[in-house]
Amino acid sequence: MINRLVIIGVGLIGGSLAQALKRAGYCRHITGCGRNEAHLRRAVELGVVDDWQQDIATAVRGADMVVLAVPLGAMEENLQVLAGAVDDACIITDVGSAKASVVSAARTAFGDLPENFVPGHPIAGTERSGVDASFAELFDGRRVILTPTERSSVAAVQYVTTMWQQAGAIVERMDCRHHDEILAATSHLPHMLAYVLVDALVHMDESEEIFRFAAGGFRDFTRIASSDPVMWHDICFANRDAVLLMLDRFRQHLDQLAAAIQSGDSRQIKDTFIRAKQARDGFVDQLSDPHLSTE
Ligand code: NAP
Repeated sequence: MINRLVIIGVGLIGGSLAQALKRAGYCRHITGCGRNEAHLRRAVELGVVDDWQQDIATAVRGADMVVLAVPLGAMEENLQVLAGAVDDACIITDVGSAKASVVSAARTAFGDLPENFVPGHPIAGTERSGVDASFAELFDGRRVILTPTERSSVAAVQYVTTMWQQAGAIVERMDCRHHDEILAATSHLPHMLAYVLVDALVHMDESEEIFRFAAGGFRDFTRIASSDPVMWHDICFANRDAVLLMLDRFRQHLDQLAAAIQSGDSRQIKDTFIRAKQARDGFVDQLSDPHLSTE
């Protein structure tokens, strides 16, 4: 059981984790930290955290565990503050959607990677953000990928693993670079495509008419373009190389399709669609509740 947990960033992910751990009875006390007093008061009012504190150094004094659930662009500044404030025994983890950048920020902040630092990423989310969007069931049956560093201690990895299991998740481990490549393909690229598709249509003269007649397929494909722009902006930079690689690959496939349409190569067009349908029917439909997760 965690005696004192501090969650920095009580939004969708931080707030949902707090609620899931409360549901499991796994935390004696949860303090929420963040920039905005009104958001923190709201988190207490909703019963998501027990109390709040804006000063991170004060909040983490005597804590057993700190979870960083802030946008990727805010990880480094928060790790810098933690480095000067946290007890040696305190376990530190994060929930950032890209991992190599967080590891690098931790190395910069602490000088060397601390043994009690275990990066993580829950593969769960919705297109909503903020504490009002958080809910205890978000991680039920979902995967959480931990990317322990070469310095993470066995005990720290076990501690973070147990926390996520208590929150309802299935925990896996991966190297952080591998994590970033896989997520660039399965999550980051689809978000880029959804944002760019909607933005491209907005720029067309007939955009009003286009959106008026948009049907279910358009809605399904573009749902994730309602995700938080700041979060996805940060991911572009935090996972820059892998995202660029995936965009490049995708562009090649799109060019091939355009060439096939241009030259009337119906076989290639059909083969592409058949392969894609078979792959989707085989893999993606096995995912539970595909309408919920954005990651
Ligand atoms: P969110 O709902 O917007 O919550 C972010 C929280 O961080 C807010 O409580 C915000 O509170 C706080 N915050 C923002 N900037 C801060 C700063 N500079 N210092 C301290 N606190 C700050 O976002 P989220 O969806 O929970 O995402 C949080 C993290 O989870 C991100 O790193 C994201 O990559 C990762 N993640 C997201 C999803 C998803 O689908 N949404 C899934 C997996 C992982 P104040 O504005 O009050 O400070």
